[in-house]
Amino acid sequence: MRTFQQIAELRAHLRAARDDGQTIGFVPTMGALHEGHLSLIRRSCNDCDRTVVSIFVNPTQFGPNEDLDRYPRDLARDSRLCQEEGVDALFVPTVADMYPADADTWVEVPELSKPYEGAHRPGHFRGVATVCAKLFQIVQPHRAYFGQKDYQQLLVIQRMVADLCMPITIVACPTVREPDGLAMSSRNAYLDREEREAAAVLSRALFEAQRLFEAGERSADELRSAMVRVIESEPRARLDYVAIAHPQTLAALETVHDGCVALGAIRIGGTRLIDNVLLGVTLNHQARRPA
Ligand code: AMP
Repeated sequence: MRTFQQIAELRAHLRAARDDGQTIGFVPTMGALHEGHLSLIRRSCNDCDRTVVSIFVNPTQFGPNEDLDRYPRDLARDSRLCQEEGVDALFVPTVADMYPADADTWVEVPELSKPYEGAHRPGHFRGVATVCAKLFQIVQPHRAYFGQKDYQQLLVIQRMVADLCMPITIVACPTVREPDGLAMSSRNAYLDREEREAAAVLSRALFEAQRLFEAGERSADELRSAMVRVIESEPRARLDYVAIAHPQTLAALETVHDGCVALGAIRIGGTRLIDNVLLGVTLNHQARRPA
């Protein structure tokens, strides 16, 4: 595995592979890698001749009072994990190279960015879309791998790629969970022991919606109330939102149908956690709840 900081050097390396007819898979991350990231990397290594992983804690997707400064960083460990998985190139650009002082171009996907995470984190998806557009321009992958864990982000990226005619296939990968159901996240490292225990309440609430849907409940209000009740049963959790939404448009629904998404966000202490599940869809697209 080779590690690149310079855009031009990575480009030259990948140009040779592309000219050779090799397929390039890309996994953009912010580092502090866990099994969720590794599942994307494995999928890419399995599908593509070369896999590029980027590690870049993207400042433009953090709000002014968010955790940019304390976001976990461990490049030595991340690099070892990538090497072990058979990654071809690790790209670790600097903030100055990704955002030169005179840069003035932004990518926005305004409708999909409006609700849920966008409403709670103004500017977040503009930062995500912009950095992904730049990384896609640099790497020019055939396929890029994203986790369903960040469902709204996945939709924003799919929309951007379609709208900007980018010749990239976006591959959605199922959410990897801890044994108690908590979705893996670099931010779980912020939780102390008691907070960590409490954090599983979010996936429990989503699984409850899934269970009720499978038992025949089709009222979004009922499913939402059931999720709120589960979350309110955990005194350490503060609810940001729970919702049942259309899986492509994210529009709020009254009547729920197969394939809709249940989404939620909570705060535990100073840590914000998000998660989602699809309802009634038994595809390998989605990790099932633990038995
Ligand atoms: P991040 O480093 O948090 O920006 O995440 C990088 C990529 O990994 C994104 O596509 C995430 O959706 C994906 N990812 C993060 N956590 C998980 C998880 N638990 N399961 C699957 N994919 C994940």
